[in-house]
Amino acid sequence: MNVLVINCGSSSLKYQLINTDTEEVLAKGLCERIGMDGSVLTHQPAGKDKVTIQAPMPDHKVAVSMVIDSLTDKNYGVVDSLDAIDAVGHRVVHGGESFSEAIKINDEVIEAIKECNDLAPLHNPANLIGIDACQALMPDVPMVAVFDTAFHQTMPVKAYLYGLPYEYYEKYKVRRYGFHGTSHSYVSKRAAEILGKDYNNFKVIVCHLGNGASISAVCNGKCVDTSMGLTPLEGLIMGTRSGDLDPAILEFICKKENISIEEMNTVLNKKSGVLGMSGVSSDFRDLTAARDAGNKRAADTLDTYAYNVAKYIGSYVAAMNGVDAIVFTAGVGENTQSVRKAVSEYFGYLGTEIDDEKNAVRGEEIVISKPGSKVALMVVPTNEELAIARETLALVK
Ligand code: ADP
Repeated sequence: MNVLVINCGSSSLKYQLINTDTEEVLAKGLCERIGMDGSVLTHQPAGKDKVTIQAPMPDHKVAVSMVIDSLTDKNYGVVDSLDAIDAVGHRVVHGGESFSEAIKINDEVIEAIKECNDLAPLHNPANLIGIDACQALMPDVPMVAVFDTAFHQTMPVKAYLYGLPYEYYEKYKVRRYGFHGTSHSYVSKRAAEILGKDYNNFKVIVCHLGNGASISAVCNGKCVDTSMGLTPLEGLIMGTRSGDLDPAILEFICKKENISIEEMNTVLNKKSGVLGMSGVSSDFRDLTAARDAGNKRAADTLDTYAYNVAKYIGSYVAAMNGVDAIVFTAGVGENTQSVRKAVSEYFGYLGTEIDDEKNAVRGEEIVISKPGSKVALMVVPTNEELAIARETLALVK
C-alpha cells in the first residue's frame, strides 16, 4: 500500500509517499511560501535528482495538486496515477482530550479537531486546511489523522494538572497535553526492540532534542509524563523557545520593556532559548563552533542546556522509580555528541557511562553506553513520517 503523509503548516506543506510493504520512501518534498509571492515546491524522488518547481500556490489546494502532479509526473514521478495513492495520513498537532489515538477522518472527526483549534491556533487550522485540500482532490481516498498529543493522553492526573484554580481546567481545558507524541511513541518502541526488551515491561526516557524539544517518561508502553504543556512553549530550553520560567517574569519584562503580552509571547517563542541566551544562533552546529572558538556565552548556554535536560531526566527517573534506557533523538539528539556527553555526565550515579567512541557516531541507531552499564544510553533517529504511515495503514487496511 502507498500512503501519502502530509504535514501541513500555515504557509508550508511537507509530504512523503511511503510504500508500507517495504517501508521505502518513494518520494518526499516540501511546498513553501503557500499564499505568498515566490512559492516553490521541492520534490525529491528516491534515487533521482531533486526537482525545484517555482509556480504560484495561492492556496493549499493548489499546493496539494502540484504535489500530486509531481508524484505522477512522467519524468520525475514515482507512481503512474492518483489511483496508486491508497491512503493519506495527516499530522494534526492538537487532539485535546478528544483523541488518545489516530483516527480515520470523517465529518465528525473534523468537527472535533476544530474544537481543539483554540488550543493550537497556529497549527490546527493549518492542519485542517491540508485535510480539506486533500479531500477535495482525492475524495475517495481514506484519510487518517495522527495527533502529536495522542500518545501523551495516558498521563495520569498528577502529571497533567497545573497548580491553578481548577475551574481553568474545567472551563478552558488548561492542562498539560505534550507534543512530539508520534516521535516519543516511535522512538520508545524502537529502543525496546533494539535492546530486545518487552516494551510493556520497560522504563524509558526519550529526549527529543530538535529545534523544538521535549522529554517524555514512558513506563511499560505508556507515557506517564512529558515536558511540553498546554503549548509547546513549556519544558526544556529550545532553539528559540524559553521553556520553563518563573511566570512572574512575563509581567516584569512587559512593564520594563513596555511591550504587550502578545509581544512577550513572540519573545518567548522566537527570540529566547539558546538563540536568545547565546546571541549566536539557534543551531547547535554554530553554538558548538562558537564555544570551541572561546565564546563564553555560547559555552554557558550549552552548559545550561545540558543541565536543564539532565534535571528533567532526573525527575522522570523519580516519576518512574527507575529507568532502563535514556534515548536521544531529533536533530540535536541525533547529531550533537557534545550535548549527549554533557547530559550523560550527570548520570554516573545510575550506573551508566558513555562510550566516547560509540558516541562519536551520528544519526544511526546505537547504544552509546559502555557494556555493563545498568542504564542504556542510546541514539535512535526518529521517523515521524514512517510512524504516521504505519498508523494510517493500521486504520485503513
Ligand atoms: P525541528 O524538526 O524541531 O525543526 P530538527 O529535529 O530538524 O528540528 O533539529 C534541528 C536542529 O538540529 C538544528 O537547529 C541543529 O541545531 C541540529 N542539527 C541538525 N543537524 C545537525 C548536525 N549535523 N550537527 C549538529 N546539529 C545538528
